[in-house]
Amino acid sequence: MTLFTDLNLSQPLLDALAAEGYAAPTPIQTQAIPHVLAGKDLLGIAQTGTGKTAAFALPMLQRLAANPANRKPMTCRALILSPTRELATQISESFRSYGRNLKLSVLTVFGGVGHVPQAKALRAGVDILVATPGRLLDHMREDNIRFDHVEIFVLDEADQMLDMGFIHDIRKVVARLPRKRQSLFFSATMPGEIGKLAGDLLHEPERVQVTPVATTVELIRQRVEFMYPAEKNAALAEALRSPEMTRSLVFTRTKHGADKVVRFLEREGIAAAAIHGNKSQNQRERALSMFKSGDIRVLVATDIAARGIDIDAVSHVVNYHLPNIPESYVHRIGRTARAGASGVAISFCDNEERAYLRDIEKLIRRPIDAEDRRGKIVANSADIAAPESTDLTRGELRRQQGPRPQHKAGGRPGNKPANKPGQRPQHAKGGKPGGHHGHGKPAQGHGKPHAGRPGGGKPHRGQGGGGNGNGGGNRPMMPTEPYRPRGDGDLGSMPMMRPVRLPE
Ligand code: AMP
Repeated sequence: MTLFTDLNLSQPLLDALAAEGYAAPTPIQTQAIPHVLAGKDLLGIAQTGTGKTAAFALPMLQRLAANPANRKPMTCRALILSPTRELATQISESFRSYGRNLKLSVLTVFGGVGHVPQAKALRAGVDILVATPGRLLDHMREDNIRFDHVEIFVLDEADQMLDMGFIHDIRKVVARLPRKRQSLFFSATMPGEIGKLAGDLLHEPERVQVTPVATTVELIRQRVEFMYPAEKNAALAEALRSPEMTRSLVFTRTKHGADKVVRFLEREGIAAAAIHGNKSQNQRERALSMFKSGDIRVLVATDIAARGIDIDAVSHVVNYHLPNIPESYVHRIGRTARAGASGVAISFCDNEERAYLRDIEKLIRRPIDAEDRRGKIVANSADIAAPESTDLTRGELRRQQGPRPQHKAGGRPGNKPANKPGQRPQHAKGGKPGGHHGHGKPAQGHGKPHAGRPGGGKPHRGQGGGGNGNGGGNRPMMPTEPYRPRGDGDLGSMPMMRPVRLPE
């Protein structure tokens, strides 16, 4: 096994790594660090979660520190471009933490925050500048910064830059860089346009590649739950009440959808925050720090906001909406398998999303185990989501589920008063919404059987019968046994899982 001491890193960096608690380099670090230390250009195919930030930050810090230069006004020695503010912040934090024993300055520049303090800091000059393209161009136009002293240039998450329409901005920045420089280029995927950009930017690069996009997913226990759109809220609340879901990242397709989910969860007494492009920088930072500190266990995010966010110990990723871009699925679920940890990904799939699911399965080259829960999730009265597709309407769903259960009054988290006639039912103490477990009725007893659907007649474990009236019949969302992939990488060994293929 390679150790950090085998990589010719200087003592101040080794000390910082020891303080971080990193035992050994990750594969991308082992491969990339020697090339970057040697001053070579690098093309890195790696996604976040592989340790790629340290793979470039460590050797860059070493090279910059080995050749101290007086700080000149309006210049930087290293420029790192990142697609999102969150990723820029994380990269800066990594540089600061790995470079804690060195005397190099780090500045982060992105939009959504005050312009003037950034302009002032840029004019003073900085060693390492981490920026998002838009705001950097503003500063460039205002002559707050020049790039003629850049020694090392890094383009991180290049494919995301392309998706976000930053390619032209990047080319404008690159046009101002000195020809003699070291360039490092990282991307999780290599679509044609990104390959061309890499070809234009890099000079005789070394190429390193780790965990192609389709294989990181092997660490993650994945399941799909088929349901009607109107059932998603209740299913989410039910899932989040599981004690196993210690830190969950919930993905929605739209910003509006993220806000709606947060409002619903708050009504359910589940503290959550949303993070997306319409939130101010302060709101985003606050949401992230509450999530990191454990003040909230649920963060609801859109793809772009969550891309590159580095949060340790995310236990579950929930795809409230399946992404329409299959690669986003891999990026999303990768949040729960940081630096080799394993995690769980649950995807709620309605009828209209089944085409997305097929694309995802094609990309990851395996079927995802699925369970058909359509019509089986007892929605929690008014909290039920408005249907978002042509699947069952709210009324149809209610009719299918039959009369709502009458619960004992009081005792629900949040302690709402007992019901008066005509009011929404309250749940018995400790009971989950949709807690028909306590009534001893089989789940299927409420609705019409789904003719011809595999598994449609069997109650799910823990659902239906066996309720004890105190809501204790919680069906574990995920198997409690540790997951051991079979030698052939087949996920079919997951307990309780059975592939379900719905009729087209
Ligand atoms: P990244 O891919 O750069 O976003 O890194 C993902 C996570 O892995 C971050 O939380 C890093 O702090 C962590 N990490 C990076 N390198 C190592 C390492 N060698 N050992 C353990 N954790 C690491």
